[in-house]
Amino acid sequence: MPDPVLAIKDLDAGYNGIPVVRGLSLAVNPGEVVAFLGPNGAGKTTTLITTSGLQPVLSGEIVVLGTSVNNLAPQKIARLGVSHVTEDRSLFFSLSVKENLRLGARSGKPDYATSLKYFPALEPLMDRQAGLLSGGEQQMLALGRALASKPKLLMIDEMSLGLAPVIVERLLPVVRAIADDTGCGVLLVEQHVNQALQIADRGYVLAHGDLMAEGSADALKNDRALLEASYLGEAD
Ligand code: ATP
Repeated sequence: MPDPVLAIKDLDAGYNGIPVVRGLSLAVNPGEVVAFLGPNGAGKTTTLITTSGLQPVLSGEIVVLGTSVNNLAPQKIARLGVSHVTEDRSLFFSLSVKENLRLGARSGKPDYATSLKYFPALEPLMDRQAGLLSGGEQQMLALGRALASKPKLLMIDEMSLGLAPVIVERLLPVVRAIADDTGCGVLLVEQHVNQALQIADRGYVLAHGDLMAEGSADALKNDRALLEASYLGEAD
């Protein structure tokens, strides 16, 4: 078994020294899609931004490709091969699609071809301002830009936020294909639990900062009671 691209060990993470995530252990292996589930406020975003180095680790350890990133600056963590698609997608709205993709490539010549391979709908839009795209197109651009950095770990926060279900149905298999083809590990925060588990290998369910469940996607899919209770904050 190759080393995980992400190993979170007994993590406490939060704000101003107060943990909102407690004792979380989680791993993402190369080529895996891992669904990171749980209700609003569970601590999913906090886990992702702490992994990106935007908030300090309060205790425990985060290891990316064998390197402890506890004390690393965000740009150094990114250079290890971590790409983070944030909830707000963080696009440059006044720049074109092409310029946004170019900014995704960390160094060297921008590789538009890989982004366009997975998101061909962007091709005729290359010169359009990102701010003029539809929500679905903006999410494709955010994912395409993340791909341009050739990530080894791709973290996607609330991919389907504000998107029509039909767009979500189209994007999730693309996420699966990216993991399968490129070997990058994907940590996917997603409110569409059933659809996320259709394409995921494994999943973790967080509620109120505590890990409530983990397992194969199939096992989680079949444990409706636990999933629902976790979402309602009633699981123990
Ligand atoms: P959501 O789907 O709502 O984003 P989440 O699982 O991603 O949910 P987080 O955003 O990580 O949850 O929030 C976890 C907890 O941390 C919540 O109680 C939230 O209010 C709190 N929190 C988030 N950001 C901050 C902040 N900047 N300062 C203090 N507390 C925060």
